[in-house]
Amino acid sequence: MTVKLTWLGHAACKLEYEGKVILIDPWLGNPKFPGDNYKPDKVDIMLITHGHNDHFGDAIELGKQFKPKTPVIHEMSLFLQKQGVEAIGMNFGGTVDIDGIKVTLVPSSHSGGYADNSGNVVFMGNPGGYVVTFPDGNSFYHAGDTGVTKEMAITRDLFEPKVGLFPIGGHYTMDPKGAAYAAKMMKLDAVVPIHYGTFVPPLVGTPEELEKELEGSGIKVHALNPGDSIEF
Ligand code: ZN
Repeated sequence: MTVKLTWLGHAACKLEYEGKVILIDPWLGNPKFPGDNYKPDKVDIMLITHGHNDHFGDAIELGKQFKPKTPVIHEMSLFLQKQGVEAIGMNFGGTVDIDGIKVTLVPSSHSGGYADNSGNVVFMGNPGGYVVTFPDGNSFYHAGDTGVTKEMAITRDLFEPKVGLFPIGGHYTMDPKGAAYAAKMMKLDAVVPIHYGTFVPPLVGTPEELEKELEGSGIKVHALNPGDSIEF
């Protein structure tokens, strides 16, 4: 079965598999969100890589509206449960099986505080990335926000994801050079660049730079516009 992946701007994306909808880093108010037509009418699983507001986004509203299963780092799950969201607390290396879709939390190199309405920073646990493995073995990796880490090689060996979503904007995350290094280390078939262009500066990395860095590697760069989809 193919998985349909739609980029929703910034780090937000949607995966569709056999009628199931998985929403990752649900900041649907991001400046590059492709429009009301792309607002979900259901969410079965919601994943949040870390507590920063540009990733956590509309998690509370969407969690209350659609009641998705929401496997996230333990401390974030406590916060979400208090808000009435069906969060499942987990931690790095652990896998949660939701109707045959396996969600694994893997480490990233970043930070993860959430700023509440009064500007107080709430500790939301350590930031991470996700591997999503479908019942047919097809596997996908969302790096979250991160620099390049050696742990990515372990993630590759354990889960062999084919497609990776990598931040390339630089400043807060790896830039195109770092993302290309990571994609090669993980022996991906394809990489989808995210977390660039939302705010310029500082998120100045471009897919063209990533393509140049990956020239000759055999790794495909899917430079999507927000709202575009690929299948894998
Ligand atoms: Zn962040």
